[in-house]
Amino acid sequence: MRGFDYLIVGGGLAAVSAVDGIRELHPDASIAILSDETEPPYQRPPLSKEFLQYPDVPRSLLYVKPEGWYDEQASLQLVTRQKAMTLDPGAMRVTTARGTVYGAPRILLATGGRAKNLAVAGRDLPGVFTLRDVEDSEAIRAAGIEGTEAVLIGAGFVGMELAASLSAHGVSSTVVEALDRAWPRLLPPELARWVAGYFEERGVSFRFNAAVEGFMGEERLEAVLAGGRSIPCDFAVVGVGMDPCDGLASDAGLAVDDGIQVDAFGETSHPHIYAAGDVARFPDPVFGGRTRVEHWEHAREHGRRVGRNMTGERVPYDHLSHLFSRVFDLNVNVVGRPAAASEIVRWGEPGEGPSVTFGLAEGRVSGVVLLDAPAELEHARTLVRSRAAANLVGDLATRDFGSLDGIARLAAANAMEDQGIGEKYE
Ligand SMILES: Cc1cc2nc3c(=O)[nH]c(=O)nc-3n(C[C@H](O)[C@H](O)[C@H](O)COP(=O)(O)OP(=O)(O)OC[C@H]3O[C@@H](n4cnc5c(N)ncnc54)[C@H](O)[C@@H]3O)c2cc1C
Repeated sequence: MRGFDYLIVGGGLAAVSAVDGIRELHPDASIAILSDETEPPYQRPPLSKEFLQYPDVPRSLLYVKPEGWYDEQASLQLVTRQKAMTLDPGAMRVTTARGTVYGAPRILLATGGRAKNLAVAGRDLPGVFTLRDVEDSEAIRAAGIEGTEAVLIGAGFVGMELAASLSAHGVSSTVVEALDRAWPRLLPPELARWVAGYFEERGVSFRFNAAVEGFMGEERLEAVLAGGRSIPCDFAVVGVGMDPCDGLASDAGLAVDDGIQVDAFGETSHPHIYAAGDVARFPDPVFGGRTRVEHWEHAREHGRRVGRNMTGERVPYDHLSHLFSRVFDLNVNVVGRPAAASEIVRWGEPGEGPSVTFGLAEGRVSGVVLLDAPAELEHARTLVRSRAAANLVGDLATRDFGSLDGIARLAAANAMEDQGIGEKYE
């Protein structure tokens, strides 16, 4: 058996961030990372953006750590092309597909997720893709040459970003969505309609309320059947979300429920086995209940926090969901849960300079969407995190603040006052 102080299963952003967290408090710890990928840990957001748009970008530009970094680190072993097959919690050991056994007194599962496919006829036809790893992105890049037509299934971030990126290559896209709008889990309906219009002006077509019934073609994909109509195309990408890779944990008897269940410290139902990143379902400190988040910032922060906790520090994970995106020339930041809002208040016109949309639910700010307003990100976080009262931002409809600074500080001060601390900001 190969023994280490810490064993990390999975080679994504959460895994590397956990190494950073462990090393901050336990600098000389021995650590092994087991990854089933061919590449060292890399960034996934560019796979649907820059990496797809610019054919000459090498894989190494995606790496989270510079090339050679792992070899330079004392007592750190990155083992690629090595899938962990079984976890024995009693012995604290993991066995890989090659039969090698790794063990450690602390184990982290950072196995992320795999792209969902659709259970319909023709899904294995050449020309039908999903997008999760660098090989997928390269295959889509090769298919998306000028003059081709693509069907993108799902108007979530993969479908929307692909539509924008592929249009840079002269590919015309039709986005097919089973629900009634673009980015349905992210944006309030009014804003979703505006975003769809923004895409249509740039040549993207949408089919809403259309479920995919099958992929058609003899040797390779020729058309997608959706909502009772056939849409001819050269290739299609299924972007309907991911399934967490939690099989290793469930087979080992750990508590799993659409993701590996962890407490606020990242510990699973088995002591000394932890989980972090896209695969972990954790207690939501802002909205209550349990949640699983599939965003870059969460993978980085959760990985690092859980890594530190594995060394013996015990600090709960304090997270507020944040997703960023860039589509055509539009910079998008979404904080909290604006899609679930019962009412919205908007500051500024989308597409005409910075615009901020507040989602309100149960008298509180539940989420904020920033379009071309990245400078307001920290203020937006403060407003959602402090569960600012709706009437505070209601004022925004009539007053020109110019920036969220004042209102965010007021919300933070009110929250502190509610807890009996601090003076109200004037
Ligand atoms: C195309 C795309 C675009 C994105 N764009 C954005 C964006 O714009 N903004 C944003 O906030 N987020 C974005 N994300 C989401 C973000 O990239 C993820 O949240 C983040 O990568 C999650 O990191 P992770 O380490 O938890 O999981 P992953 O990145 O999935 O890493 C898990 C790793 O574990 C490996 N693994 C799994 N099982 C095993 C096993 N049994 N043995 C060994 N290895 C295993 C996997 O192969 C993988 O390498 C995007 C994701 C994709 C796919």
